[in-house]
Amino acid sequence: MTTQRRLLMIPGPIEVSPAVRDAFAVPPPGHLSPEVIEAFGASLEMMRRVWLAAPSSQPFAVAGSGTTAMEMAVANLIEPGDAAIVVNTGYFSDRMVEMLRRAGAEVVDLTAVPGEVPNVSRAAGAFDDFARAGKKVKALFATHVDTSTGALCDPRPLALLARERGALSVFDGVCATAAERFEMEAWDSDVYLSASQKAIGLPSGLALLVASARALATRDARKAPPPLASDWHAWHPIMQAYEARKPAYFATPPTNLILALSVGLREILEDGMEARFALHERGARALRVAWSSLGLRPVPAREQNAAHTLSALHFPSGVDATLVARVAERGVYVAGGLHPAIRGAYFRVGHMGYALTRADFLMRCVEAVAGALASFGNDVDGEAAVSAMLTSLQSGVAP
Ligand code: PMP
Repeated sequence: MTTQRRLLMIPGPIEVSPAVRDAFAVPPPGHLSPEVIEAFGASLEMMRRVWLAAPSSQPFAVAGSGTTAMEMAVANLIEPGDAAIVVNTGYFSDRMVEMLRRAGAEVVDLTAVPGEVPNVSRAAGAFDDFARAGKKVKALFATHVDTSTGALCDPRPLALLARERGALSVFDGVCATAAERFEMEAWDSDVYLSASQKAIGLPSGLALLVASARALATRDARKAPPPLASDWHAWHPIMQAYEARKPAYFATPPTNLILALSVGLREILEDGMEARFALHERGARALRVAWSSLGLRPVPAREQNAAHTLSALHFPSGVDATLVARVAERGVYVAGGLHPAIRGAYFRVGHMGYALTRADFLMRCVEAVAGALASFGNDVDGEAAVSAMLTSLQSGVAP
């Protein structure tokens, strides 16, 4: 029987660092208190640096989750009749399509089999089709990492394509921000949206988003305002006030989370963005070695399409979805399948942020998965898997 604390290795929420936990676990401060004003202002400044965003961009941090951030992007940018293209890699891209349709957009939904990413040339073709029909595309949407399949899309060519065609580009970075490379300014992208509970390294509860000056101007040009709680016009002055270290109120922020946000972002920036991207690449590579040694095959067949923030793994033969509970019996929480087409055929392991600095966490996770596989009668060697993972982690191969 393990006496160790349960270890959370789902693709968000994640294990948080002791400093983040300490910052969060204080008596609730008021939203106009000096420490919250300072933490809020500093966090917005740091978001620009983590997002690698332009000085003219505007970060927003509001109570909510990733879905709130998605809704905010759609609500401010899309008007009925607008043309939109979605590069769809799974469950969360489907959610984006649903939001766009509800906002009245005419959506071209470019789908792929689970684990694959639609080719950029298909997105270019969709722009051509709209152009032939005499329609200008308002925005292209894509999910940086789709958490349902573990598929990683390369945002750069998509952002450049959108720019070339005069459209906005919007990326869902909920399972990617601060872990997978995203260069908002260099790629001239318009919205990169996220949430607190994944690689940002906080508990859940904050919707985070950075909008380009072009995106803000798109909101300004709307015929009708979006719902008030999503409206950048309501939030923008609040964010500007906090950055100027002045009190402001539109709707109460989750103050403990704002304190934690400033600590979490500072930890990320102390490492530096290149080091963060490398940390996630190294961790993902080491775990891939462990999974392969246990006979587990990733859902994304091609490594270049595989996220560095989570592993989505097919059940080997003889193993079913009770694997997840059997791993939990060993003190480690992993997640079941989510993509409707393959839901019962795979499971997911998150590996973001703090856990990647803890080889003991990764070892416990691999041991628990190996033990659960063995409980099905599978012939696996957990020790060999852990040792292969550690060798890979220590090999120090620069990504
Ligand atoms: N997009 C992606 C890629 C996600 O992984 C998630 C959450 N797993 C969401 C959007 C929705 O975020 P939330 O659950 O925080 O609303």
